[in-house]
Amino acid sequence: MAELRFDGRVAVVTGAGRGLGRAYARLLAARGAKVVVNDAGTSLAGDGGDTSPAQQVVDEITAAGGEAVANTDSVATPDGGRALIDTALKRWGRLDVLIHNAGIVRRAALREMSYDDFEAVVDVHLRGAFHVVRPAFPVMCDAGYGRIVLTSSIGGLYGNHEVANYAVAKAGVIGLSNVAAMEGAAHGVQCNVIVPAALTRMAEGLDTSAYPPMEPELVAPAVGWLAHETCSITGEIMIALAGRVARAVIAETPGVYRPSWTIEDVAANLDAIRDTSAPIVFPVVPDGHGDHIRYSFALAKGSAEGAVHA
Ligand code: NAD
Repeated sequence: MAELRFDGRVAVVTGAGRGLGRAYARLLAARGAKVVVNDAGTSLAGDGGDTSPAQQVVDEITAAGGEAVANTDSVATPDGGRALIDTALKRWGRLDVLIHNAGIVRRAALREMSYDDFEAVVDVHLRGAFHVVRPAFPVMCDAGYGRIVLTSSIGGLYGNHEVANYAVAKAGVIGLSNVAAMEGAAHGVQCNVIVPAALTRMAEGLDTSAYPPMEPELVAPAVGWLAHETCSITGEIMIALAGRVARAVIAETPGVYRPSWTIEDVAANLDAIRDTSAPIVFPVVPDGHGDHIRYSFALAKGSAEGAVHA
């Protein structure tokens, strides 16, 4: 296969001063993209600010013959999000790729989590996604082209202990991605979610001695493909963990139809209601929302396949 390149494309990568974002920015730049390397240079908990991580990645890209500009605005505010999108537009006059990757972690058990810790994490991951997608989306739609990648997490799909804030935010970006994929479809704008895992400072404190290789560079090609013009999917969730690349889906059981229900009926039909042996996936685009409703209506009219009439 010919090398998939990004010549002439302009990309914004948030949180690109370290870890996964750095690997994404370096890969895109190595393939010809002009890259805004955004990073506010915060601590893992989101405190402080340091301009050097973003500049260092720009220096690495430039030294390798690529083109990049540093931006240290915070994605956690509407002004910051707009400013970092404007950096791409002012510098290069276009925006083809947006990867929202910036993130922080604040751990606390649900029964003790402070509102400060909840808000701070949601501000960077979820509101941050809106703060960058909101100014980028009209630009992309008007240009008739765009590739957006938002970052979820295993914690967003399945939850995890002591990260209610993070799990909420990482589940929330899936909703934003779905809407961007639906509303962008007619304009050549595609949006997908990456569920990455890699050994970065986010793994600090974990015993990773028995882990297989998990460097950020193992994740970057999946994100690179989602960001490329040949990307053929939208409204999907891609997983990249320790060399495994996979798709995550929201699936439904066919279900059980009855013209009326009692609480006892639910209990009596539970096995069939929960039977995952024939899962149904409604793709977000073109119309997962409508397909879901139509399937349920068809059941009520007795014309849907697979489900049980009890
Ligand atoms: P990292 O801490 O190495 O890098 C995140 C970067 O985001 C940092 O350089 C930080 O300065 C920057 N940042 C934080 N707040 C910011 C803000 N308000 N504005 C701009 N930049 C900000 O972390 P990472 O492991 O590379 O994580 C990258 C993304 O991948 C995050 O969204 C994270 O939640 C997600 N993720 C990571 C893993 C993993 O295994 N590392 C797993 C699942 C999801």
